[in-house]
Amino acid sequence: MSKATDELFKNVISHAKEYGFVFQSSEIYDGLSAVYDYGQNGAELKNNIKTYWWKAMVQMHDNIVGIDSAIFMHPKIWKASGHVDGFSDPMIDNKDSKKRYRADQLLEDKIAKYEADGKTDKAAALQTAMDDALKAEDLPRLKELIIEQEIACPVSGTRNWTDVRQFNLMFSTQVGAIADESDTIYLRPETAQGIFVNYLNVQKSGRMKIPFGIAQIGKAFRNEVIARQFIIRMREFEQMEMQFFVRPGTQKEWFNKWKETRLKWHLALGTDEAKYRYHEHTKLAHYADAAYDIEFNFPFGFKEVEGIHSRTDFDLSQHQKFSGKKMQYFDPELGEDGKPYGNYIPYVIETSIGLDRMFLLTMINAYEEEDLSTEEKQDSRTVLRLHPALAPVKAAIFPLTKKDGLPEKAREIMDKLKLDFNLQYEEKDAIGKRYRRQDAIGTPFCITVDHQTLEDDTVTIRYRDTMAQERVPASQLEKIIGDQVSW
Ligand code: ATP
Repeated sequence: MSKATDELFKNVISHAKEYGFVFQSSEIYDGLSAVYDYGQNGAELKNNIKTYWWKAMVQMHDNIVGIDSAIFMHPKIWKASGHVDGFSDPMIDNKDSKKRYRADQLLEDKIAKYEADGKTDKAAALQTAMDDALKAEDLPRLKELIIEQEIACPVSGTRNWTDVRQFNLMFSTQVGAIADESDTIYLRPETAQGIFVNYLNVQKSGRMKIPFGIAQIGKAFRNEVIARQFIIRMREFEQMEMQFFVRPGTQKEWFNKWKETRLKWHLALGTDEAKYRYHEHTKLAHYADAAYDIEFNFPFGFKEVEGIHSRTDFDLSQHQKFSGKKMQYFDPELGEDGKPYGNYIPYVIETSIGLDRMFLLTMINAYEEEDLSTEEKQDSRTVLRLHPALAPVKAAIFPLTKKDGLPEKAREIMDKLKLDFNLQYEEKDAIGKRYRRQDAIGTPFCITVDHQTLEDDTVTIRYRDTMAQERVPASQLEKIIGDQVSW
């Protein structure tokens, strides 16, 4: 990370705290690592991102419906999905520093260092050696690589490591009164399984015909070995996932469609296309037949925000096997041979986006320290250029002064608008200061009520991005704001 981007990232994090977007969880108790709370503006922004996703996925597609499944699920589900046996990261402890690391992360850091030093051959060789060891689940080999690399390219100078162990990322807890092994249940590490296990319920009760999708937004929990980069890697986070059920043989076509559709969703917010890229997975999970990530260029480099996966019939077949319930779909449509396609287990295309990563991306993208200096004086402002539909507060209403009936008039205007828009009323400080506070949280409009308003019912509206001001009748505010902030 260059000094400038490092600085930018730090500034966004402190801005997020100072203006009520994101707080460290349990801060007054020195915080809880990798857990965060959303403040008054953060909760609004997060809700608006959810609405944008839900509208685009559910409301705009008549063959996609949304559900809200429970976080707790039958423990067998995580056996069937492969999470009990396979959802783990290789972990290693340093005996000197008593610090815990992800073995692959340690090696990835070395690879990045080699690359930064122009030693591309060494980087490539280490990448291959690490991939081979991970694929073969050869944990002693991973340890060997870490020790070798510490000698070849010392960073911490310590070589006193424990063995590498697989560390399951699922949190478990006990259900009921008896803390018996059989009562162990898990906090879901992804929302997708809640969709798979409800596939039959939704298909039947909604009379859904293939192809159709089920969408869901909800919390997921992973006991990440190391937490880094603010809300990029959290232990409690939120996902927005959609499983699209298709006829076997058509998955490639649907995969390509969703890959494109999802990138368009990101770009429709006005983000520069150059900040995004696709990353194709070359090492696929055994059940997947295609996988791409949508990555965003964060200040610390490109990082996955969303995954699009073609998961074949793996998940539904596993649930059929473990539950003993038939997961088949009867497709009455006629194929080329003139016969119905008949019974089959649908194939699945999944789109899975991390809401918190999307939140951070949105903040970073919108954040600007703008220099407003003129020859006469130095001036600057921090502005969040959020898409108006995402802005936590749509408009701020200011009486010019606290007297002469201006607050009452401002309240009256506010009362007419607040049913439709989230508004903020402010009467403290000079107008210029109030503008700056609203710029900092991304409010697209500021409306000032002055003495003229009492005479002709006009107000001054000031636009966040251009800082231009104009006089408009108060009766037009609903339309001016509505045109900008609705999807
Ligand atoms: P990574 O490789 O970064 O750990 P992943 O491949 O494990 O991510 P998926 O299991 O595909 O991620 O989850 C889908 C999405 O959920 C990711 O694209 C990401 O946006 C989000 N996500 C996953 N893990 C976390 C986490 N610990 N904190 C916040 N968001 C996460």
